[in-house]
Amino acid sequence: MKEIVVSGIRPTGKLHLGNYFGAFKHFLTLQEQYDSYFFIADYHSLTTHPNPADLKGSVQRVLAEYIALGLDPEKCTIYLQSDLPETAELYLFLNMNAYLGELERVTSFKDKVRSQPDNVNAGLLTYPVLMAADILIHRGVKVPVGKDQEQHLEMARTFGNRFNRLYHTEVFPEPQAFSVSKELVKIPGLTGGGKMSKSAGEADTIYLNDEADVLHKKIMRAVSDAGPTEAGQPKSQPVQNLFDLMQLVCSPEKIAFFDTEHAEGRIRYGDLKKQLATDMETFIAPLRDKINYQLENTSQLQEIAAFGAEKARKSARKTMNLVREAIGFKTN
Ligand code: AMP
Repeated sequence: MKEIVVSGIRPTGKLHLGNYFGAFKHFLTLQEQYDSYFFIADYHSLTTHPNPADLKGSVQRVLAEYIALGLDPEKCTIYLQSDLPETAELYLFLNMNAYLGELERVTSFKDKVRSQPDNVNAGLLTYPVLMAADILIHRGVKVPVGKDQEQHLEMARTFGNRFNRLYHTEVFPEPQAFSVSKELVKIPGLTGGGKMSKSAGEADTIYLNDEADVLHKKIMRAVSDAGPTEAGQPKSQPVQNLFDLMQLVCSPEKIAFFDTEHAEGRIRYGDLKKQLATDMETFIAPLRDKINYQLENTSQLQEIAAFGAEKARKSARKTMNLVREAIGFKTN
């Protein structure tokens, strides 16, 4: 039996190159090697009170993008969190066992209290309980999480163990954090900073569905420097960033050519950018087409979501029967 992996996806709009190489590519490995569950965390997003049209649109978009880029509903289980009411039921049970003191101490909660003081709702406070329910509902043992989520995962272990002890059961295994790949990829942005990031603005970010002209303009306007004044000068950060982006999409020969041009102090950044823009477009065009195709085929997306929900519910019902039985409720 393959180990069970559970991973949440925030419905926060379109994917960029950093998301693709930094996170999404790992999902493709996971779906081959594990019994993986990927859910779009639309319950979680209610903590910020999105309006219904925005929520629906961003959920559709992530689903379309993840399917277009290669998540295969036959190989993994991809579903919407809100299609699994069992998660909400488990969340309720786990809440009976989660204490105010420990929830108030969670770093992400304290951050939210600072950043949205007018909306400190109970959903924010119990965010780690919902995350625990997401994982425990499938009795997941591995969770690909970043550093910022480790505290939440620790709490998932605490809530699962506490439930087991209270009801003299072993229904929940201990989920562990893991990283699919040891090498941490960091994709730089176009504005000279360290890491491509949506918060750095449109000019920094290459989206997987950027149209050819948008992509070309963004790359041609990317930050570089005044150019080397003599041979052998080291590359500045913004220029290194452009070379790092070339590594993703350009041939080794072309990279070597511009490397030499730089080392010999005669590089023309306009030529480098033109090359990068051309090769980036070659890389992005098929992804963009697939994403647009999925976005236009809403009925197919609905079928994929329904198929995923059914698979997820099978696993969730099994868990909830054990949980209800342990508590002393009738099973379904
Ligand atoms: P975000 O939507 O910014 O929270 O990013 C979601 C995930 O994508 C992160 O947890 C990272 O794993 C990955 N990611 C985002 N930006 C980058 C980047 N510039 N380089 C590498 N990975 C990234």
